[in-house]
Amino acid sequence: MTLTCRIHAAHDLRLEDQAAPALGEHDAEIRLGAGGICGSDLHYFQHGRVGAFVVREPLIPGHEASGTVVRVGPSVTRVKPGDRVAINPSHPCGRCDYCRDGRLNLCRHMFFLGSASVFPHAQGMFRETFAMGEAQLTPIAEDITLGEIACAEPLSIGLHAVHRAGVLTGKTVLVTGGGTIGCMSTIAARLAGAAHVIVCDIADRPLEMARRVGADETVRSDQVDAKALADRADVALEAAGSPAALATCLAAIKRGGRIVQVGTLPAEIPFPANTIMARELDYVGAFRAAQAFDWAVQYLRTRRVDVRPLVSAQLPLSRAQEAFELAADRSRSTKVQLVAD
Ligand SMILES: [Zn+2]
Ligand SMILES: [Zn+2]
Repeated sequence: MTLTCRIHAAHDLRLEDQAAPALGEHDAEIRLGAGGICGSDLHYFQHGRVGAFVVREPLIPGHEASGTVVRVGPSVTRVKPGDRVAINPSHPCGRCDYCRDGRLNLCRHMFFLGSASVFPHAQGMFRETFAMGEAQLTPIAEDITLGEIACAEPLSIGLHAVHRAGVLTGKTVLVTGGGTIGCMSTIAARLAGAAHVIVCDIADRPLEMARRVGADETVRSDQVDAKALADRADVALEAAGSPAALATCLAAIKRGGRIVQVGTLPAEIPFPANTIMARELDYVGAFRAAQAFDWAVQYLRTRRVDVRPLVSAQLPLSRAQEAFELAADRSRSTKVQLVAD
């Protein structure tokens, strides 16, 4: 039996004993190392949905995980028992037109762990042990922690967002939101050569974290006049998922600039389409990541990117409820991770 965290509905998170995983020929059994609680996991917990993805059967959340290989199926060659692994939660089909075009994150038949985007739901990794296809696994021999390895997925989101932003060398970049994704976007913007990174938030702790990971300037956007930022950013990365943050991006962006929406905004918001037109702005989306997962693993293994400041707490799976509540409190948390008991 394996201890499993399942969301049945909004505010109904249960710890249940489930049968141990059956292993396919190309699967490895993984013991959870660390599993980060993401904004989307919190949405499932608080609202029973993320945007259009609604919980319709009990969902095991968790898509940001690392682990240790316990045993392997007969045909597995990529990993062996005892290996510590990064786990890519994204399973594109590899055959559709988007996959063949290299846009794996847009796959028509995407299976993304810990998500209610498909039915039956794609069950995630907040459980003591689980089976995982070896293709999803990258062994990590370097001396970094399982908590750091579990940050590969959120780092990949920042890297992909910056990839969608185009060339950043020498540019001024605004990031709205100093949570995990805002911080990962800040790190990614610096790696991509941004000359000056400004991070906005409406709370102090996220801004402090942003400075620790390399923001050049931080702004309490609820306390300054929007004019103070006007016309300053060549590129804006919206990582807060709030209409006010998007308004900050629109106020700060220069003519001809690019806004990348990484956060999930409310379904219907007023949108200044004529500003996009008259100022010749590029407005692009960034959804999950594609090859950026492997880039993230590479940056982490050498500590070229050091994510340790972002991991604010680790709690055992048996305290999942408490961990979710802690993760929701931005005054105390950046990335809260669950670890096997
Ligand atoms: Zn996530
Ligand atoms: Zn596909």
